[in-house]
Amino acid sequence: MQSVDGFGGAPPSGRQASQDGKAIARTLQAVRGMNDILPELTPSWQYLEDAMRRVIQAYGYREIRLPLLEKTELFKRSIGEVTDIVEKEMYTFEDRNGDSLTLRPEGTAGCVRACMEHGLLHNQVQRLWYAGPMFRHERPQKGRYRQFHQFGVEAFGMEGPDIDAELILMTAQLWKTLGLKGAVLQLNSLGTQASRAAYREALVEYFRGCLTDLDEDSRRRLDGNPLRILDSKNPRMQAVIGGAPRLPDYLDVESRVHFDALRALLDAAGIDYVVNPRLVRGLDYYGKTVFEWVTDRLGAQGTICAGGRYDGLVEYLGGRPTPAVGFALGLERLIALLEAEGVDLPDSNPHAYLVLSGDKGVRRGMVFAGELREAVKGLRLLTNCGGGSFKSQFRRADKSGAGLALVIGDDEAERGQVTLKPLRGESAQETLSQTDAAGRLGKLLGLELNA
Ligand code: ATP
Ligand code: MG
Repeated sequence: MQSVDGFGGAPPSGRQASQDGKAIARTLQAVRGMNDILPELTPSWQYLEDAMRRVIQAYGYREIRLPLLEKTELFKRSIGEVTDIVEKEMYTFEDRNGDSLTLRPEGTAGCVRACMEHGLLHNQVQRLWYAGPMFRHERPQKGRYRQFHQFGVEAFGMEGPDIDAELILMTAQLWKTLGLKGAVLQLNSLGTQASRAAYREALVEYFRGCLTDLDEDSRRRLDGNPLRILDSKNPRMQAVIGGAPRLPDYLDVESRVHFDALRALLDAAGIDYVVNPRLVRGLDYYGKTVFEWVTDRLGAQGTICAGGRYDGLVEYLGGRPTPAVGFALGLERLIALLEAEGVDLPDSNPHAYLVLSGDKGVRRGMVFAGELREAVKGLRLLTNCGGGSFKSQFRRADKSGAGLALVIGDDEAERGQVTLKPLRGESAQETLSQTDAAGRLGKLLGLELNA
């Protein structure tokens, strides 16, 4: 027989039970850095997600839905062994078959894997997007969590710079749609593989000359991934990084032409940016365009969107050479920014609350509520459940945030009527025929009727 508490063992009793209950509740808290998003906050998330979906789909991008788990090998190979993510942030475990699996720390790897596996990259272009949770074992702090959410966009088969510009224009359009004003676009070119190789050499030589100033991470990266040193967040490293050779001085003609053309496209579209020569993605297959949108309103975690071109990845994973560019947005940081900038979010309270009394009233009311929801587009109508006096039902109506109460008692049910009672403002209550109610509600709430 299953125990009462569901955790096995005999059910404790009295004081002991309540103490055990508290202890269990404590151990059953969410995993550190993984947040519940409570109903109070979900309207902001829905607002954000709806706006993104609308903007991205207006550009003709199609959604791809990908597993949360992939083989560990995929991330090791595509993100690179000498990176924060692979070295110390992945949630990796063996499944029951002994296969090493990892909760996805980002979406590009899985997206490329899926496209290759399903032949989506053969002689065709793809414009794709995905959204969902990502997992990284980082130190939780404001704007940095262990489960967080991204919207990602990837475009395959186009060499750019026009597609690079399209992605950046899309992000700018997103901020406009969301009503966000404060983000600054930072832009850089990592150049072609050849120019990056020359730069890398200069960088290694420079950092070798000041080995004692490097922290442990950076020393380790010196051989495997020297560009990544530029990305160090260690304040003690900033001086030595400041003196390092600059990437723009090493760009070859092809890289320059690409970068200049991108800048011309952004200029023509009226998009402001600053060129940040220290902006890098420290992986070998990243090249040419890299960009980030940064805000100073969120403290240290100010990057809300990061993207770039990764023409080398598909080939590196065993496919044909395929140009590719993409970006990812951090939704937790965007939500925080919406709050910090005081953006008005649409109201998500119910429009109306249906007060019911008497057997006939309840039976008719449940059906009537369904009829109203079908008739009035976008109507949010709460039906009272659990009975209660008029007074207590009106208290619930008030608490729900609805602007309007509808009342059906036995009398109204018999006469085919409903009473409308505004819960805020001065207007008087009115009783009308149930058949006229949808039209009246539509007018009062500014909602359209379904044909
Ligand atoms: P950071 O430098 O802040 O660690 P990153 O370079 O690791 O960022 P990307 O892998 O480029 O980040 O991810 C794209 C976006 O996802 C970031 O710009 C950020 O908005 C968001 N993001 C990344 N890691 C986290 C996290 N642990 N918690 C919340 N958001 C995150
Ligand atoms: Mg990171």
